[in-house]
Amino acid sequence: MPRNYVDGGLIVGDSASLLNSQRLKGIHTAIKSGMLAAETIYEALCADDTSANALKKYPEKIKRSWLKEELWAVRNFHQAFHGGLWKGLFHAGFQFVTGGRGLIDPMRTKAGYQEYAKLNRDGTLVDQSSRFKGDGSLTFDRLTDVYHSGTRHEEDQPCHLVVLEPDICGSRCVREFGNPCQYFCPAAVYEMVNDKGAAKLKINAANCVHCKTCDIADPYQIINWVPPEGGGGPNYEGM
Ligand code: SF4
Repeated sequence: MPRNYVDGGLIVGDSASLLNSQRLKGIHTAIKSGMLAAETIYEALCADDTSANALKKYPEKIKRSWLKEELWAVRNFHQAFHGGLWKGLFHAGFQFVTGGRGLIDPMRTKAGYQEYAKLNRDGTLVDQSSRFKGDGSLTFDRLTDVYHSGTRHEEDQPCHLVVLEPDICGSRCVREFGNPCQYFCPAAVYEMVNDKGAAKLKINAANCVHCKTCDIADPYQIINWVPPEGGGGPNYEGM
């Protein structure tokens, strides 16, 4: 379990790796970890000590709760599928009967962004005109989905999506990976446009639904997503 306490702070839920990856469920673990964090904070405030040393009771409480039991049994599940579906099914089945141990324990994997296959294309932009647009009744294009999410941001807030080296997008990424940001972002935030004959990244930051996929899936790790100003983002009021 990664360290989930610092001076004056505790990390709960998915951010603390408390997602059950086998069931793709994390709300119940987020609630439980939040309750344990609240208990720990209460005790720390009563003792007038919120240092990391005092807050390290939190991971101990997690270990003594049902969270440990549930998540320990699926500790290698996600990694099992990194070798493909059939290997994954074999490993996952074996883990099921061995309480999560499987053949290799712990099972290590690479980060997802390191697993992209290089395309080695020429530098032309990928034509987006045939992208899925939905039927407008039961299925929708991404911008309609963004509209339904009720996403809003203050116009004058600092940009919460910072591409540290934007030149890479129109030079290396367009050739090596075909700009995957256009596909993994569910809100059409990243668009590659033709700017006087050169490929250039356009960022529609106001569309962002705060999934943070770009920060972890970008092959060059140059997208820096930071939490926007409070109150911004999706509200899902139209869904
Ligand atoms: Fe798109 Fe999600 Fe990144 Fe926002 S956080 S820009 S929605 S991938």
